[in-house]
Amino acid sequence: MKVVVVGGGVAGMTTAYRLMQGGHDVKLFESSPFLGGLVRTFEVGGSRLEAYYHHIFSSDTTIIDLINELGLGDDLKWIESKVGWFDNDKIYPFTTPKDLALFGPLPPLDRIRVGLMGLKLRNKEDWAEFERITCKEWIEKNVSKKVFEKMWGPLLEGKYGDAYDQVAMAWLWSKVHLRFQSRRGVSQKEFLGYLKGSFYVYIDEMERRLRAGGVEINLGAAVQEITAENNRATGVVLADGSRVEADAVVAALPSLLFKKLAPMLSPEYVAKLEHVKWQGAVCMVVTMKKSLSPIYWMNIADRAMPFLALVEHTNFMGPENYDGNHILYISNYLQQDHEYFGMDEEQLWAIFEPALKRINPAFSSDWVNDKWVFKAPFAQPIIGLEYSKYRPDHRTPVDGLYLETMTQIYPEDRGQNYSIRMGDEVARMVVEDHARRAATT
Ligand SMILES: Cc1cc2nc3c(=O)[nH]c(=O)nc-3n(C[C@H](O)[C@H](O)[C@H](O)COP(=O)(O)OP(=O)(O)OC[C@H]3O[C@@H](n4cnc5c(N)ncnc54)[C@H](O)[C@@H]3O)c2cc1C
Repeated sequence: MKVVVVGGGVAGMTTAYRLMQGGHDVKLFESSPFLGGLVRTFEVGGSRLEAYYHHIFSSDTTIIDLINELGLGDDLKWIESKVGWFDNDKIYPFTTPKDLALFGPLPPLDRIRVGLMGLKLRNKEDWAEFERITCKEWIEKNVSKKVFEKMWGPLLEGKYGDAYDQVAMAWLWSKVHLRFQSRRGVSQKEFLGYLKGSFYVYIDEMERRLRAGGVEINLGAAVQEITAENNRATGVVLADGSRVEADAVVAALPSLLFKKLAPMLSPEYVAKLEHVKWQGAVCMVVTMKKSLSPIYWMNIADRAMPFLALVEHTNFMGPENYDGNHILYISNYLQQDHEYFGMDEEQLWAIFEPALKRINPAFSSDWVNDKWVFKAPFAQPIIGLEYSKYRPDHRTPVDGLYLETMTQIYPEDRGQNYSIRMGDEVARMVVEDHARRAATT
C-alpha cells in the first residue's frame, strides 16, 4: 500500500514508522526544514535543547515504550522536579504536601481544601461528570471561590486567555489525576522524565530508522491540497504543483490547517474541526551566566506579570550539560493575533526584563549570554464542555483519509505521549481498512 503522511511531528513520524515496519511504501511531507514539529530543538552550549520546554510523566507509558524500543532507555533520566509559585512578589515552593501546608497565598483552611481536591481527583477514575462542568464552576462549588481566585483562575487565564472560564473540568481532572502518578514515597516528591541530550535523541533515531527502512522523507515540502475522487483519497498536491498518488493519506497536523487542505470534507466533519479553538505559544529561551532562582517550574499567578511560567531548565538538567550556561524559558500561551507574535527578541526582552527583576532583584541583563524566541500558532487546543460529542474521528468521511491532531486527544491534555499513541492507532486503522478493502474487491 502507498501511504502519504502529511506532517513530520511526532504523530506523523510514528505513523510513518509503524507503516514502514509493516512493509508499506511511505512518503512523508513536512513543511519545515526539520522533523519533530513542536519538539524541535536547536543547539545551546554544544548540546541540543528543545525550543519549547519538554519533560514527561511516569504515566506517559507510550513514549517510554517507544524510547525503549528505539534502544534509548538508558538515556531516559527521572529527575526530581522543583515547582514554585510566584505571587505577591514572593516565590513559594510548591511541590510536596508539606509545601502546600505552608503555602502563604491561601488561608490554612483553603490549603486543606486544595489538598483534598488533589486526593479526590487522583482517586476518581470515572471522569464523565467532569465533561459537563467547567473548571471554574467545579472549583468554586467543590473547593472554594478563594482557591479559584488565587490559584486556578490566574493560571487558566494565563493559559487560555478570554476562554479561561470555558475550559471543561475534564481537562483539569486528567492533569491532576495523571500527574499524581509521577510522585514517589512518603514525601510525595515529583520525578519527571527527560532524555539525556534532549528529546531530539529519539526524534533523530526515528528519522534514521525511517530513512534506513526506505521511507521517503521530504523536508521543506508543504502539502497544499489533499485530493480525492468519488469520496476516496487519491494523494496530495505540493506547493510546487506536483502531484503524489497514494492509496491512503494521513494528515498529522493542526485541525484548522487540515481543514484548509481538504475542501471535500463534509460540513458535519468541518463543524467538528472548527468547534475547537487553539492558543498559540511564544517562548523565549535565555542563556545566562547565573541562575535566576532555584526553581525548575515556576507558575506565575500574578496576571500583571508579562508571562505565565518560567522554566529554568538547568535546575533540572544541570548547566554542566550546556557548557556552563543556565537556561531559562519564558513562557506564554496567547491568542494567535496577540501583539507578542509580531515582536522580535529585543522588543519582547524590553517587556520581560523588568519582570525578571521582580523574581530576583539582583538579576541584570549582564547575566544574559544569548536569547532566542520561538513562536507556535497552534500550541494548545481549548477543550470546552461535552467534548465527547464534538471530537472528530481519526477516520474522516473520505475513505482512505485520516486525521491525527492534538484536538483528538481527550480527556488527557496534549503531549508527546498522546501524539505517539495517536500515531500508533492511526497506523493500525490504515492497515485494517486496507485489508478490509482488499477482502471486498
Ligand atoms: C510550549 C509547549 C510546551 C510543551 N511541553 C510539553 C511537555 O513538557 N511534554 C510533552 O510531552 N509535550 C509537551 N508539549 C506538547 C508536544 O510538543 C505536542 O503534544 C507534540 O509535539 C505534538 O506533536 P504532533 O505531531 O501531534 O503535532 P506538531 O508537532 O504540531 O506537528 C505537526 C507538523 O505538521 C507540519 N505541517 C503543518 N502544515 C503542513 C503542511 N501543509 N504540509 C506539510 N507539513 C505540515 C508542521 O510543520 C509540524 O511539523 C508542549 C508543547 C508546547 C507548545
